[in-house]
Amino acid sequence: MSVATTTPAVAMATATPAVPAQAARSRRVAVTVGGATMLVSCPLWCTHPHSEAYRALADVSHHGVSISLAAPTYDGVEQVLTARISSWPFAGDPETATPFIAFDAVGDEVAQLAPTAALAVADQVIAHGHALRALASSVPEVSQEPRLVSEA
Ligand SMILES: [Zn+2]
Repeated sequence: MSVATTTPAVAMATATPAVPAQAARSRRVAVTVGGATMLVSCPLWCTHPHSEAYRALADVSHHGVSISLAAPTYDGVEQVLTARISSWPFAGDPETATPFIAFDAVGDEVAQLAPTAALAVADQVIAHGHALRALASSVPEVSQEPRLVSEA
């Protein structure tokens, strides 16, 4: 049996952390506001084309890709639980100036959720999914035609 007595070839890391290169989080896009073209910062998550003619800078908003759940209905399928990242950086509302989750549960009205609130909703959706699975599993298989149990 031998015991290593040499010094490791690589010294242990010191307390000085490496500073990661700042990744770009936005790009500049040209927007038309009141007939004038100007450059605004657009976050990388934004997929909005910004091709419309804005009346005011406050109307410039950023929107990411939407996700939704296809829910079966009597008539077909309806998209529910729609969510996307949005921000309205120039609208003067501190709650929408930074990115938030635009959440539309039933295709009616959009709620503005902070990330922690969106996580709470996600937990509720997951719990509902488990409850739906349990409910579906509790239904006995029907292998026979419906029949009367007793007749008067
Ligand atoms: Zn944008």
